[in-house]
Amino acid sequence: MTVPFLNLKPIHDPLYPEFIEAIGSVLKQNNFILGEGVQQFEKAYAQFNKTQYALGVGNGLDALKIALKTIGVGADDEVIIPSNTFIATALAVSELGAKPILCEPDMHTYNITASNIEKHITRKTKAIIPVHLYGQSCETTTILKLAEAHKLYVVEDNAQAQGAMYNGAITGSVGHINATSFYPGKNLGALGDAGAITTNSEELFHAAAKLRNYGSDTKYIHELKGYNSRLDEMQAVLLNIKLKYLDEYNKARNAIADAYTSKLKSINNVILPQVAEGATHVYHLYVIRVEERDKLRNYLLEKGITTLIHYPVPIHKQKSYLELNDNSNAFPIAETISNTALSLPVYPGLTTNEIDYICSCIASFYEA
Ligand SMILES: *Cc1c(COP(=O)(O)O)cnc(C)c1O
Repeated sequence: MTVPFLNLKPIHDPLYPEFIEAIGSVLKQNNFILGEGVQQFEKAYAQFNKTQYALGVGNGLDALKIALKTIGVGADDEVIIPSNTFIATALAVSELGAKPILCEPDMHTYNITASNIEKHITRKTKAIIPVHLYGQSCETTTILKLAEAHKLYVVEDNAQAQGAMYNGAITGSVGHINATSFYPGKNLGALGDAGAITTNSEELFHAAAKLRNYGSDTKYIHELKGYNSRLDEMQAVLLNIKLKYLDEYNKARNAIADAYTSKLKSINNVILPQVAEGATHVYHLYVIRVEERDKLRNYLLEKGITTLIHYPVPIHKQKSYLELNDNSNAFPIAETISNTALSLPVYPGLTTNEIDYICSCIASFYEA
């Protein structure tokens, strides 16, 4: 048996007729930039996300960048981000000339917490980016309280957690202005690059809407130095179709996670994902931690099972961020996670047989 890390076929094949019809309707209109499809998707995504506004942009990195620019992040500002996040979170901060400040996550949830964040707040801090890593919501309402006490902005990086909740609040609805990605492998994936910004602030929404379109809301009148990062019309109509099934996809991911957890919990060497009280998880990734990670990964590969590591090199160890590496083992949790984390396949359509096979291979690795 072979099990790929990700297979989009089971969710895309049944949607083929709907996709073709939607693409046909765009072709009929011949309106490819910021057309009706983008507006419809923005409305539908705002409704899903329980925010007043959603704004479609080119990708998740641009969503973060535009969100930070909208709240005025610039040179000399500090922005607190997790030490174990994907590089995009840091790059968005750096591109605006600001400094990413790495904050260690909780060892059990892998998410940053208000008490860890507080240690890094200085006079230069402008914003906090909680990343709902692997699909589990951070303690958003607690982080927002801390931010408001210090007059800071919260920008949620919701690329991995569309639909997760903390104390009843959906991710992407708590921060002042928030970013998400519809990269094909995300829980809500486009069929190419796409992203969105969500907010409840009319003022921030209008400013972000200008920034994504050359700093303009009237053609050839440019109030700001903006970007070109518009959600593509084709992607918007396809996303509109997939959005209807997002809750179903997240339920399927949770069922897969439950199956993994019940089959792997008797193996003492394997640390399973832990969900914090008050939080929900939408399992963008099902990440286990094991000491002998590389050996297990190769063993599974020999058995036909592809796994991945999120992420094998923490930001402060990347060549592009040498300035954040002070060689003092300052981020031991990020390093432990990168040395021990292993992401198992999780996607709607992964079968019970495949899950059983993966779990029995992990068990036989430890019995050998
Ligand atoms: C995927 C991802 C992004 C970036 O999204 P792109 O659409 O690939 O630019 C940002 N942050 C996190 C945490 C991600 O997982």
